[in-house]
This record gives sequence, structure tokens and C-alpha cells, in this order.
Amino acid sequence: MSSLRFKAVEEAAKRLPLEVNDPKELPSEYYGNYVFNRKQMAKYLSKETMGVVLEAIDKGATLQPGIADHVAAGMKMWAIEMGATHYTHWFQPLTEGTAEKHDSFIDYEAGVDGGIIERFSGKLLAQQEPDASSFPSGGIRNTFEARGYTAWDPSSPAFIVDDTLCIPTVFISYTGEALDYKTPLLKTLSAVDKAAVDVCKLFDPAVKKVFSFLGWEQEYFLVDQALYAARPDLSLTDRTLMGHESAKNQQLEDHYFGSIPPRVAAFMREVEFESYKYGIPLKTRHNEVAPNQFELAPIFGETNLAVDQNLLVISLMKKIAAKHHFKLLLHEKPFAGVNGSGKHNNWSLGTDTGIGLFTPGKTANENLLFVTFLVNTLMAVYKHNALLKASISSAPNAHRLGANEAPPAIISVFLGSQLSSVLDKIEESSDDDEITVDELKKMKLGVAHIPEVLIDNTDRNRTSPFAFTGNRFEFRAVGSSANCSSPMTALNAAVASQLIDFKQEIDVKIRKGMKKEQAIYDTLRLYIKESKPIRFEGNSYSDEWKEEAKKRGLDCETSVPVIFDAYTSKQSVDMFERLGVLNEKELHARNEVKWETYTKKIQIEARVLGDLSINHIIPVATQYQSMLLDNIYKMRAVFDKDKADKLSQDDVSLIEQIATHISAIKTNVDAMVDARKVANKIENAREKAVQYHDTVAPFFDIIRYHVDKLELIVDNQMWPLPKYRELLFIN
Ligand code: ADP
Ligand code: MG
Repeated sequence: MSSLRFKAVEEAAKRLPLEVNDPKELPSEYYGNYVFNRKQMAKYLSKETMGVVLEAIDKGATLQPGIADHVAAGMKMWAIEMGATHYTHWFQPLTEGTAEKHDSFIDYEAGVDGGIIERFSGKLLAQQEPDASSFPSGGIRNTFEARGYTAWDPSSPAFIVDDTLCIPTVFISYTGEALDYKTPLLKTLSAVDKAAVDVCKLFDPAVKKVFSFLGWEQEYFLVDQALYAARPDLSLTDRTLMGHESAKNQQLEDHYFGSIPPRVAAFMREVEFESYKYGIPLKTRHNEVAPNQFELAPIFGETNLAVDQNLLVISLMKKIAAKHHFKLLLHEKPFAGVNGSGKHNNWSLGTDTGIGLFTPGKTANENLLFVTFLVNTLMAVYKHNALLKASISSAPNAHRLGANEAPPAIISVFLGSQLSSVLDKIEESSDDDEITVDELKKMKLGVAHIPEVLIDNTDRNRTSPFAFTGNRFEFRAVGSSANCSSPMTALNAAVASQLIDFKQEIDVKIRKGMKKEQAIYDTLRLYIKESKPIRFEGNSYSDEWKEEAKKRGLDCETSVPVIFDAYTSKQSVDMFERLGVLNEKELHARNEVKWETYTKKIQIEARVLGDLSINHIIPVATQYQSMLLDNIYKMRAVFDKDKADKLSQDDVSLIEQIATHISAIKTNVDAMVDARKVANKIENAREKAVQYHDTVAPFFDIIRYHVDKLELIVDNQMWPLPKYRELLFIN
């Protein structure tokens, strides 16, 4: 009998919801208390210092070294009063998640023998040198020059976790290349700011800054800690590599938006209280479609900050989950047969004058501005659809994309019927329908009449990977475990580059004597025609769409390692270099990291699958098989041969089935190991990843099929791994 599994089930089933100590105050009263935000700055910094810091935050200006000392002093005072004893630079290496190295504030006090003081200088605030040799760099750092340094990002406020002051930073090699997610994101955000401001000025000279906004929706699974510990595949790969579907799954659709299980509700509440302390405006929480799957989402905010907040929420969730005896699963597809997890990135641009650039306006001028940004985004997504797909691709997300539940592995844009018809009208217009802005600022061709009901656009196509949802685009293909910086960098860069092209075309036309509105209108009409292939309103899961998309010339590649090539295409390199976001060397190096990560993930899964199959499953199946054989002998001892044979028929058939499955498992595990040996000899990171994808990964489904069949045959009492019904329905 499998004692670990049953002990785990018993333990999990007995658990009660944890008491959560609700804060005495209202969220508005303790909101942001653990963040060195404007409120704290006003208390701990001089007016002058604060002014400079705010300028750096709002305008992206760099801080003078002298100022950093003042900021550090104020920050230290605040942190120590809050009970912090250590500080760390908190950064985002090219692995998922964040990294930190804690240093204590203590230092020897000069001239005082044996005395120490709490020291935190501007230098320590501004820069740190973590031993970076074990972070992935894609070959940028040689081992003899393994140093990288982290530098403070003042646009994301410092915060305190437990006893440590955490300072959000970028992570760069000594030769200046980005080794993290944040550096290219920040550069992209200032590129899109600049490009969008230039375009906005065509409409309103008062616009000085354009922000990129992000509202992420984080999906996740929770599994009881004891059950998780009894599943080596979950513990080591974050997903189940085997497990027959539960009789009941998500088919009754009774989990989505259903009442939240009490243990989970307690967990969620604590996550919310903690998040509010960090100024993270969590707004929604609910069950998701799959059993034991949930979602939370904050109110959207500036993209760089929103990315940091997502990473911080994830680390809070992990910690709080452990306290509630859960394990948090962020894998995109932890369970076969039920929905996987994504992280929709709701994205928009907005001006410092308060205009949402994807919000239909009331006047003709406002609507022309809206259509301008809408159409340029279509163009950007069209031109860079392969890159955008690469930005969300990973080994785990590949299980989600292309399956019949989530966005397909082809990027297209859904606009909805109303907007589509507005664009169609513009497209069909001719020069005779010349645009006129009369005294009432009414335009022809319906641009002025974009219905405001769009704001409540419920006509959403759930199958689209990139959908317009009223006042923003929702990039749905992003995986639940991803760092949002990756898609946000690609998207904002593509749009920035596109806006630059647009502005140049307008300038040329105006110089040639065309009226401004006419120039804009004219260009948009061309763009609408050109970007048409990216627009798709139908069912993105269908096979017809795959055929159609190929005809339209959209990127249809499904192999993740090959998808990454889009980062180093001439088009992408030109775009990133033009914007000063990443150079060719960096793009290549980052792809090396992606390929290595891909290979390692598949390699680990292959090892775990082999081990579980050979050492956990086959021995149990064999044991059950001998029990059946035993039974046949005993039948013969009691009954005459004919009767015994007749009565043993079913057992014989089971014995045969077990033998077939065991032999198939053995053969395929052996073949998978051989395939790995061949792949491991390959030096080139890309080729190796491709080989893993083509020759190792295909064994997973085959081996799993036979293991799952055995699960249906073998005595439940003997089965060693917690079953799907236990993992998914105990909470
Ligand atoms: P859904 O129906 O898709 O679940 P929600 O109302 O939960 O949508 O919103 C999803 C996210 O979109 C939230 O984080 C929300 O704040 C964000 N959001 C709303 N408007 C915008 C916008 N203009 N730009 C960016 N994000 C936005
Ligand atoms: Mg959504």
C-alpha cells in the first residue's frame, strides 16, 4: 500500500482554514506603509531632495551622486524605524523571479575601536556588485570578468520585506550589457513615451509625457502542501508529468466564479492585506475555470511599477501559501485535461493630460487621435507578430498555446465588430471623400461617431491572443509564470518604432503641402490596408484559422526554440537598435539564455519522467500483476481447470495489458534516454534546444499515455502518486 499518498490525502483533508488577523485599520489607512513612497519621502527627505527625486521619477532624469547620499540617509532612517536591519538590491535576472543579496546596515565606526554603526550611503543605495557569475548571461560575461552590477531604479519605490529594505534595481554587466528584464523595459518605456508624445503633439501641443500602463491578471493553482510533497514531478518541475484525468474535471463549469473555498479565501485575504501594505492595489479575486485554479488582479498602473508589483505579489503569494499549507503553482499547465494558467497583460497608453489613447473620445479630434493609436498598434503587432510571440514563448507556456483552451500559437488582433466597421469605412473611403473638419469639428466617414458603448465592450472574443477590450488591448498569450517585462518590452518597442515611422510619414506629407488631418487620414488608410492580415474576428482555435493565417503570412511556427529566432531577425535587431533598447550582441546573448533554459527544463522533465516511470510506477504495476497471477494459481487450486480458466479470464487480460504497458514504458524511456544522450553532445545552444524539442519532448506524451492507462488498472490502494481527483478537489 502506498502510505505516503494516503497519509498526504488524510493530512490535506483534515486541514482547516487558517485564522487571518484582519488589520484593524481600513486598507486606505495602511496602504503603502511598507513602501518608501511619496508620503514617506515627504517625511524623511528634505523638500529639495524630494523635488530632485520626483523629477527623476517623473521625467526619467538621472540622479546626481550627491543627492543619492541624501536619499540614502532618509531611506535608512525610515527603514530602521520600520525595523529593518538589512538592505538588498532587488533585481530581475534572466531567470523567472527576482534575486536579492542581503547586506546588513552595520559597519565599523571609524576611530571607535570595536564600535559599529548603521551605515547606508548614497553609493550603497545607487550601486551594488552581487557576485553575478551564477546568473545567466548568454556568454556576455567571461568567468574572469564575472562581475555585473546593480543600479537603483528610482521610478520603482524601495520597500521593506521582513527585516530587509529592498531596492529595485537594474542588473548590468561591467561592459554595459543588460543582464536583466528591467533594463530593456525602462529603455523601451522612455522610447514609447518619446515617440507617442511626438504623435500626440499633432493633436494637442500640451502633451508632455505618455505613460505605458499595465494591468496584469495573475492566474494560479493551489495544491495542498502534503499532496505536493508526495508528487516528485510537481516538486521538481512544477507540473504533473503523469496522472489520469479525474472523472470530474471542469466539465460542469461549477468552479468558475463559484464561491471560494474557505482555506483559499483565507489565503487570498492575507495576500490582499499584505499587498495593500506594499501599495499594490489588488482589486479582484475569483475562482478560475479549472478546479483549484484562481485569479487575482490589481488596478492597472504604470508598466515598470506594475511589473515589479507582479513579482512582489508572487513572492508574497508563495510565502503566504506556505503558511496556509498550500503550494502555489504558477506553471502554465500543471494539469493535463483542465485549463492552464495565463497572465493577461492589459495594456494601454495614456497622456499626462489624462487622455487614454485607446479610449474612444467625444469629439472628432479625439477620435482621430484614438484611431491613430489604434491603427499604429495594429501595424506594430502586424509587423512584429513573430517577435511578440517569441516574447511570450517558453517551454511551459508551449503547453498552453495551441491547445484548445488558450490563445493559439499565432498572434492576431481582435477588434470587435464596431471598430472593425469603422476601420473598414476608412479603408473604403477614397480621396474624394476628403476629410473635412468643419466648424463643429465633425468628420466625415464616421470617425466622429465611434460609439461610446465601446467602453463597455462585452463583445469579447475569448479565443484571441490580443484583443481590444474597450479602452486597452489585452495580450492574453502571456504565461502565468512569465515576467511581464518580456512581452511589455516587445510590445512597447514595436509600438514606439511604429509611431516614429508614422510621425516621419506625416512630416513628409505636411512638408509637401498636405493638410495635417489629411496627412494623418491618408496614412492611416494605407496602414489599415497593410495591417489587415493581423485582424481576425473568428475562432482562433479552429484549424481553418491555422490555414488562413499561413496564407496571410503570419508567423505560424510552433517550436519554441525556433520561435526565439524572431528576436535576432534583421527586423527585430533594427528595431531594438534604433530605439537604443538592446543591441545585436545583447539580443543574441539573451537568446542563448532562452535556449539554455528551454533545454534544461525539458532535460529535467525527461529525467523526472524516466525516474517516476521506472522506479515508482513499474514496480507497483509489476507487484499488482503478480497478485493477479497469484490469484489465477489459487483459482486452479479451488476449481477444476476449465472453470478456473473461465473465472480468471479477466485477470489474464489485465495481466496482458499491464505487461504491454510496462514494456511500452520501458522501451520509450530507454529511447528517450538515448535521444538525450545524442542531444547532450550538441554544443550549440540553439541546435541543442531544437534537438530536445524535436527528439526528447515527443516521448513525454507517449510514456504518459501508458502510465495513465496503468493508473486505471492498478489497485487504487497501491498507486503511489496522489491522483488528479485528490490534487484538484481537496482544498
Ligand atoms: P477582465 O474582465 O478581463 O477580467 P478586469 O476588469 O478584471 O477585466 O480588468 C483586468 C485588468 O485590466 C485590471 O488590472 C484593470 O485595472 C486593467 N485595466 C483596465 N483599464 C485599463 C487600461 N486602460 N489600461 C491598462 N489596463 C487596464
Ligand atoms: Mg481579462
